[in-house]
Amino acid sequence: MPKYGFIGLGIMGSPMAANLIKAGFDVTVWNRTPGKCAPLVALGARQVESPRQVAESCDITFAMLADPAAAHAASFGPEGVLEGISDGRGYIDMSTVDDATSCAIAAAIVKAGGRFLEAPVFGTKKPAEDGTLIILTAGDQSLYDEAAAALDKLGKLRLYLGAVGQGARMKLVLNMIMGGMMTAFCEGMALGQKGGLDCSQILAVLDAGPLANPMFKGKGPMLMAGNFPTSFPLKHMQKDLRLAVALGDKLGQPLHSAAMANETFKRACAAGHADEDFSAVYRVIG
Ligand code: NAP
Repeated sequence: MPKYGFIGLGIMGSPMAANLIKAGFDVTVWNRTPGKCAPLVALGARQVESPRQVAESCDITFAMLADPAAAHAASFGPEGVLEGISDGRGYIDMSTVDDATSCAIAAAIVKAGGRFLEAPVFGTKKPAEDGTLIILTAGDQSLYDEAAAALDKLGKLRLYLGAVGQGARMKLVLNMIMGGMMTAFCEGMALGQKGGLDCSQILAVLDAGPLANPMFKGKGPMLMAGNFPTSFPLKHMQKDLRLAVALGDKLGQPLHSAAMANETFKRACAAGHADEDFSAVYRVIG
């Protein structure tokens, strides 16, 4: 049985690593803040002191890190993955990053003798806990095949999208749509409230008609309560909008509404809501 590693034990990484352990896999973990490893060690994981130690002791290492800077640091930094990867070992980066970051990490991993797969995910904290994420992979197909058993413990659906960069692009397209939907939703709820409508009736109509979706259904009551427990940190949605707008620049695609949504999320970060759920963007709209 292959040995798996997991780097980055935040909101997503912790339940994902836990699912691998619960499935009976041999799992080694590292996190920048070491204390977050404790619950996984209690489940049976081995804790080491650096990404290098994870990569060199495991056949396949997964990473679930905050952003391009974090993904870069874990690979290229001192005691990073690149110092431990060799001999066809696999590195699967599931962080949401831009295509250029993913391609740079992929090239360095391959140069060091390893194999690379990018695998950002669609789905939030609850699907991570339930093992029902949608996994958007691209890169080394032999690694995709070898990791299938583990990926199937993390997600309900996995797609192979071709060359490295295409997974990152797919993920940014999806989150760009989601960010724009959230600001439109918040504006509608705010307008309805100011217009004397009952917000629970707005939600009921949305849910009964062609705009019904789990996001409005799940986040609507949070907007009404003004309480935003974090599943997807607002700062990460702003990062994804920033990266999507940059991709639009690179490819010459105008992105008017995504750029506007990015500005609204930036304002919410500046107003101190970065670590709340991304639906807390309502605080600067409503
Ligand atoms: P999170 O809770 O903020 O966790 C971020 C992780 O990155 C933590 O383990 C953190 O370590 C680590 N990290 C940050 N900067 C680092 C650095 N410079 N060096 C090493 N490690 C660093 O985020 P999350 O919600 O789990 O999201 C992780 C990734 O998945 C992000 O790219 C996000 O966009 C994406 N994603 C999130 C969701 C969601 O709903 N939450 C859904 C799909 C995709 P510390 O513990 O030391 O801070």
